[in-house]
Amino acid sequence: MNRRKFLTILGSAGVVSALGTAKVAEASVHTFPYYDDSYGVLHDTTRCIGCRRCEEACNKVNHLRKPSKPFSDLSVTATRRRTSAYEWTVVNKYEMNGKPVFRKLQCFHCNDPACASACFAKCFQKQPDGSVTYDGSQCVGCRYCMVACPFYVPGFQYDEAFDPLVQKCTFCEPRLKEGKLPGCVEACPVDALTFGRRSDLIKVARARIADNPGKYVNYIYGEFDAGGTAWMVLAPAAEGAAVPPDDPALAGPDLKQLGLDTHLGNRPMGELTYGALGAVPMIVAFWPVLFGGAYAMTKRREAMSQLEQEKMAREAKDDVAAAVDAAVRKIEETEGEGAAERARRAMTEALKAREAEAACSKHGEDK
Ligand code: SF4
Ligand code: SF4
Ligand code: SF4
Repeated sequence: MNRRKFLTILGSAGVVSALGTAKVAEASVHTFPYYDDSYGVLHDTTRCIGCRRCEEACNKVNHLRKPSKPFSDLSVTATRRRTSAYEWTVVNKYEMNGKPVFRKLQCFHCNDPACASACFAKCFQKQPDGSVTYDGSQCVGCRYCMVACPFYVPGFQYDEAFDPLVQKCTFCEPRLKEGKLPGCVEACPVDALTFGRRSDLIKVARARIADNPGKYVNYIYGEFDAGGTAWMVLAPAAEGAAVPPDDPALAGPDLKQLGLDTHLGNRPMGELTYGALGAVPMIVAFWPVLFGGAYAMTKRREAMSQLEQEKMAREAKDDVAAAVDAAVRKIEETEGEGAAERARRAMTEALKAREAEAACSKHGEDK
């Protein structure tokens, strides 16, 4: 195992077994337990050459569907691709200082995963090793997780006729359990990806910034963003930046050029999702998906009894109603009564429209 790729050599005992004694810090800001010793990956975009070997390795180790274009075709990086059910990681090309910069996208394995907070079937788990895993056995296909994820990561197997599932990067959890590196990290030819304890990676990132004045934005993306993430990003600084920025507001323009969202704040996204499914505009925009998804249960509905379906639909409706109440309260606090009332009206109308639509389609199916 390459020491530069893996900061903490653990020997044959394997990565995960070393976490047996990991201290679980119940920090009050976290909706989920925070594992002090958990792992992460640092993506240094100043090293990345956009070769897509990580994509290829991910495809191989996870036995994913072969893409239509070969991994040797680097032209695809020019498109702002997103991860999907069959592409758990993609590398996109951006431009900074007139030069190409490549960034790898995958699940960030948030410390407080919004996907997990949003999933009422409890399919997602934050594991002590840092990974956010998904168990599809209870998934009803409502896709709340996809709406909740601030990084637009999970993909849905829309083309699967039976049992379509949500899919995303697993942090190669099965490989970690065997003491191996994530497939993508192992494959990277230029050590743009470094695996290690999250706390060590933060130190490494700080050292790189300090040792190379002017090279990096003085900001580790993911250290605090969205409540902190296991996967973090180092970005190059824009040329001529007199003082490298050290807060997201100042670092924003540089980070934005790499497609990184600098408006997520430091508050755990799970906390927001849990109470209000994020922001109200999102609820309004995605209401049909949320309610329709929960109501229809995709393909699984056929396998459920009438009573189970009704119970699930009732619970989903209660969940969404509670989320709306929480969102309205939040808007009232920040934007006043008028805005809160308008938001409630918009959401209620959207719900009614969707209920009518769902009733129509159910009637059609029952005939
Ligand atoms: S919220 Fe998105 S990025 Fe965070 S763990 Fe879930 S799927 Fe990954
Ligand atoms: S950690 Fe594993 S699943 Fe995630 S992007 Fe890398 S190879 Fe793919
Ligand atoms: S393998 Fe490494 S250098 Fe190549 S695209 Fe992936 S992260 Fe970048």
